[in-house]
Amino acid sequence: PAERLPKPDWIRTRAPAPSSRFFEIKAILRENALTTVCEEASCPNIGECFGKGTATFMIMGDKCTRRCPFCDVGHGRPDPLDPAEPERLARTVAALNLRYVVITSVDRDDLRDGGAGHFAACIRAVRAATPSTRIEVLVPDFRGRLDAALDALDAAPPDVLNHNIETVPRLYGPVRPGADYAHSLALLERFKERHPEVKTKSGLMVGLGETDDEVEDVLHDLRAHGVDMVTIGQYLAPSGAHLPVRRYVTPDAFARLRDAAEALGFAHAAVGPLVRSSYHADVQHAQADLD
Ligand code: SF4
Ligand code: SF4
Repeated sequence: PAERLPKPDWIRTRAPAPSSRFFEIKAILRENALTTVCEEASCPNIGECFGKGTATFMIMGDKCTRRCPFCDVGHGRPDPLDPAEPERLARTVAALNLRYVVITSVDRDDLRDGGAGHFAACIRAVRAATPSTRIEVLVPDFRGRLDAALDALDAAPPDVLNHNIETVPRLYGPVRPGADYAHSLALLERFKERHPEVKTKSGLMVGLGETDDEVEDVLHDLRAHGVDMVTIGQYLAPSGAHLPVRRYVTPDAFARLRDAAEALGFAHAAVGPLVRSSYHADVQHAQADLD
């Protein structure tokens, strides 16, 4: 196994002491049998996010049909869709009194529409229960079933459509097997064509072996495909069995990437070591809305 790079100071997070809100959220999640990415992906921000009442829900089970070597989500044969899940999700969002919710899923390459119809059902259920809650969906790539997926999402478009490009095209083979860079850009562009009023968003991880210039090229491509918001954060290996961290991007280098993103005209760019796709998503969306 590759030697592990020591974690620099700016990565070490001091986990805040879990607040009562943190435990309350965990209890409500378990009661409603809901999974969060925050827990599944061992997100370093969980103390802060749960403490503030933010969470990213993972629908359609916790078993992915793909196996990306940077990802800590389990894989295997997925469970059948639970038709009661949209209601449970809506109840939970209402119980947690969330103003802003991020809904994501594992890849469901086994479903005809990739699960887009289930996303739409969840959006509809949350809108019906708490109409003022803003909804961001972080969707898989729907590869091979994009037309059916876009049609399904037309029935209930979200407030923000997020799809992560994850890494630079040169590293797609080792990092995103089963995905395709041009396809992911096409998903973002085609959704925007259908819903010009809905913000689109994408994100990538750095530290997997890409150069800063390659990241800037991706930023160009995202803007060229109409993407409004971007997130860039440091990749952290969930375990020794996952892809190793090739470099820790310095805060200065992150600042340069943020400047590059802003110069390209993104309505919002969240760029920094601990930034995750859903980190401060409510703030990102609110700021993008101001422009
Ligand atoms: Fe959850 Fe996103 Fe916060 Fe991480 S950054 S804890 S995944 S809401
Ligand atoms: Fe993880 Fe998504 Fe890859 Fe599945 S498709 S392994 S959930 S990153």
